[in-house]
Amino acid sequence: MEDCMEQIFAKKDYYEIRLESIGGLGANLCGKMVGELAVRYLNLNSAGFSSYGSEKTGTPVKGYIRFCPPDREIRVHSPIVNPDLLVIFHQALTNDQSVWKGCSARTQVIIAVDQGQEEAALDRLPADIQTCYAVNARQIAMETKSRINVVMLGAMAKVMGFVAPEHVRQICRDNLGRKYPAALEGNLKGLDQGYAQVRTVRKYPETGTKKEASAAPKDSQEWGYVTAPIGGVNPRAGSTVTADLSPSRQGYVPVFIKERCINCGLCDSTCPDMVFQFAKGTFKGKEMMVNRGLDYYHCKGCMRCVDVCPVNALVRGVEAEHLEKQYFLPNQDMLRVPDYYVKAGPDGYVTSESYLTEKRMEGGEV
Ligand code: SF4
Ligand code: SF4
Repeated sequence: MEDCMEQIFAKKDYYEIRLESIGGLGANLCGKMVGELAVRYLNLNSAGFSSYGSEKTGTPVKGYIRFCPPDREIRVHSPIVNPDLLVIFHQALTNDQSVWKGCSARTQVIIAVDQGQEEAALDRLPADIQTCYAVNARQIAMETKSRINVVMLGAMAKVMGFVAPEHVRQICRDNLGRKYPAALEGNLKGLDQGYAQVRTVRKYPETGTKKEASAAPKDSQEWGYVTAPIGGVNPRAGSTVTADLSPSRQGYVPVFIKERCINCGLCDSTCPDMVFQFAKGTFKGKEMMVNRGLDYYHCKGCMRCVDVCPVNALVRGVEAEHLEKQYFLPNQDMLRVPDYYVKAGPDGYVTSESYLTEKRMEGGEV
């Protein structure tokens, strides 16, 4: 293991890890544990931080960790642009071009993929990436009653190649044993399974022929002063109304049993993400707002609605058993303009007040 580290630091100053995740999957804690592991058990210097917005579950999270030998100081504290190890906590993130930013042939990639999703995730892998590993983190987490972050921690320890399993177990005990003693056994099992089950899905040149470079995603989602939309509106803001929050779900969904629903509206006022689709209707002969279904696209699986429903019309279900969701109803307000946040200007829905005044003066219809 020491030889492995010597080889790494002979070529470059730092070993750099970037975590790409979604709020709620525990990447921040995972990053902290990895940093602590390096200092306490690998005799390395380490520095790390996470970047996330003010929102909670469901928004993008990035974690950055740097290692270097103990006789050097870490003087760089910026986000990691060219990672040696890129860890993607959910396969849906492979759709986001910014996730692949700065990756090259030397970047090792680990992706958390659900069963049946591996091929699609691999199709989105840039051609430059030569080594990729996959682990079914969500299923392992559910089976072991642990969290996705510990499964990914186990997978990272295996892939890095210079971390002893007993050390990563100890760091897990030190951190999670204090905070969540009741969940420690499950978390250790999840960690072990992550270590054992992470598998190679691409390793050039051994496991296949390299794809044409044109298959790599284009790095096209960077906004700058030239490419920013009119008015500086960021169409990819962390708004939970426009964002696809389904990757935040950790294996469970609220299942709606409409026959039991009394249309009290408690779920709608509790849900933080505009999932419930109420509309005028009748219930027991009275006109009222009626719960017609859920837009699962926005549901992050927090289960607050299940807790609050007084008649068990919403129950916790294993998502793999409810792939066809009976009352999946896309948000009608969002449907009317798919590019609601992209369109800007006079003919768009994002229309300035000054423009409206101008139109009024011209006798136009506003
Ligand atoms: S809380 Fe339960 S009963 Fe009330 S509207 Fe929601 S699903 Fe229906
Ligand atoms: S689990 Fe319920 S409360 Fe939470 S986001 Fe989904 S619908 Fe809303």
